Amino acid sequence: MALLTQAPKGTQDVLPRDSYKWQYVEGLAMEIARLYGFQEMRVPTFEHTELFNRSVGDTTDVVQKEMYTFLDKGNRSITLRPEGTAGMARAAVQNGLLNEALPLKVSYLVSCFRYEKPQAGRLREFHQFGAEVYGSDSPACDAEVIAMVGEIFDTLGVRDLRLELNSIGCPECRARYHKALKEYFAAHMDELCDTCRERLEKNPMRILDCKSPVCHKIAKDAPKVLDYICEGCSAHFEGVKARLDALGMPYVVNPTIVRGLDYYTKTVFEFVTDQIGAQGTVCGGGRYDGLIAEIGGPKLPGIGFAMGIERLLKVMDACGAEFPEQPACAIYIGSIGEAASVKAFALVNELREEGFWAECDTMGRGVKAQMKYADKLGCRLSCILGDNELESGRANVKNMRTGETHEVAFDDLIDFVYDAQVAVLTESIRETEINP
Ligand code: ATP
Ligand code: MG
Repeated sequence: MALLTQAPKGTQDVLPRDSYKWQYVEGLAMEIARLYGFQEMRVPTFEHTELFNRSVGDTTDVVQKEMYTFLDKGNRSITLRPEGTAGMARAAVQNGLLNEALPLKVSYLVSCFRYEKPQAGRLREFHQFGAEVYGSDSPACDAEVIAMVGEIFDTLGVRDLRLELNSIGCPECRARYHKALKEYFAAHMDELCDTCRERLEKNPMRILDCKSPVCHKIAKDAPKVLDYICEGCSAHFEGVKARLDALGMPYVVNPTIVRGLDYYTKTVFEFVTDQIGAQGTVCGGGRYDGLIAEIGGPKLPGIGFAMGIERLLKVMDACGAEFPEQPACAIYIGSIGEAASVKAFALVNELREEGFWAECDTMGRGVKAQMKYADKLGCRLSCILGDNELESGRANVKNMRTGETHEVAFDDLIDFVYDAQVAVLTESIRETEINP
């Protein structure tokens, strides 16, 4: 029975009292992305497993250990998406979007699934906001995407995030770098974990991203990719940095960032915080000039990022970022008796049509219990309809905070609720002006 009332490990419910935070963060991120020219794209929650093997890369942790993969009833291998980029790229190719005006800019909000060890900031189902640009290999594009992420964090009031930047070069520089890495790690062969020993031949860069403490320690002194990148990649990296400098956007070059997915080339970046424990990477992204062609599309460059919404909300809490106030119920119209209950129902409906949150009794409660509920909801105004009110067509409307009452005709109720709402807004604006 416990299984019936226990969500699977590593999943999280967003409760009614918190969902407004999600709506705020997601809405704001999407809105800022719109100003940068991104339009939302929605793709399926699952794809053919092959898509992730090819794009994320079959020597990565994600593909080797973390994917939710199963055979469907038609015997197809299906995988719940572990990240957003692969599905976006697939959809862009399949729908011919890359034959239209370039650059193509898309944004997304997705749930992702990874079979990881659940811990603070690490879930099995988590959520990402992300964006992708296809068709431009200019460093201006990298800087634009990074600046947009910075703008989102700034607007949300997230402080003390560090932008860490690196370039992991193109396939040509990668070949030279792989050779140097192989030589270095081969000397530590016996100490590496089993997975990394396998990776040594196929993809030694993956060892740099291994979470095992021993591999991590060995990786610290490994050759640094920035010493191996070619002139073109180096100039590209300088171009990105020059534009971030021009915006006055601080960053640190961290030559150890390689990112956990195989498709990255040239620029890679992370936004990192020290405020939420070990899982401090709130956003990760980079350029992936080979990905579109790798999955069978045209030879077009791309760049993108994804931020984890759970980690973002955590860091917002940690640094005291403010959320807009949760909207309160404007009025509760209580009632005594059936006729009054019908009238309350009709009035509430009118108010809702005008855009107000209004409530009346749907539990068949007595008037005392109705008012108790109105209080719990935090309704701003309330009134009670009985025979007298029905006869006079007027009700005593009480301000639940000050206790003040006003006699209001039913016909004037909408105007009255409107004025009360304006008064609350004006007061809150005045308060922010006094204590900004
Ligand atoms: P990490 O190094 O923490 O495992 P990652 O490199 O695997 O992160 P990405 O694939 O770049 O992460 O995903 C982008 C963002 O998604 C991360 O920066 C993080 O905010 C979030 N994220 C990734 N995996 C998880 C998870 N298991 N639970 C919650 N958020 C996650
Ligand atoms: Mg990971």
